[in-house]
Amino acid sequence: MTVAATRSKTKIRSGDQVMVVSGKEAGKSGKVLTVDPEKRRVVVERLNMVHKHTKPHPKKNPQGGVIEREAAIDLSNVMLICPACGQPTRVGYRLLEAGGKVRACRRENCNADIDKA
Ligand SMILES: [Zn+2]
Repeated sequence: MTVAATRSKTKIRSGDQVMVVSGKEAGKSGKVLTVDPEKRRVVVERLNMVHKHTKPHPKKNPQGGVIEREAAIDLSNVMLICPACGQPTRVGYRLLEAGGKVRACRRENCNADIDKA
């Protein structure tokens, strides 16, 4: 990840399908639930599950105890899965004639737009 990339918005957004490329969940994929651009971390559905010990809470969690939840994964450990070619890819941008830009697959032979223009 370059320094320039950390300044702007993340290339991965909630709702994207991503593949984990390193760490204990490497090789697994799932849907991004939340993105934290400042911490550069994402939460992926059903990946990187941890057991969290909780205190009883009168409304949310009357019993307390251990719950299972997703822990955030570093953005540099996930790659976007291109919806067109189904492969994990680096993300580029394509400028639109009307202004603005969409994310695009950087794989040769694909180059599909990832976002709707
Ligand atoms: Zn692609």
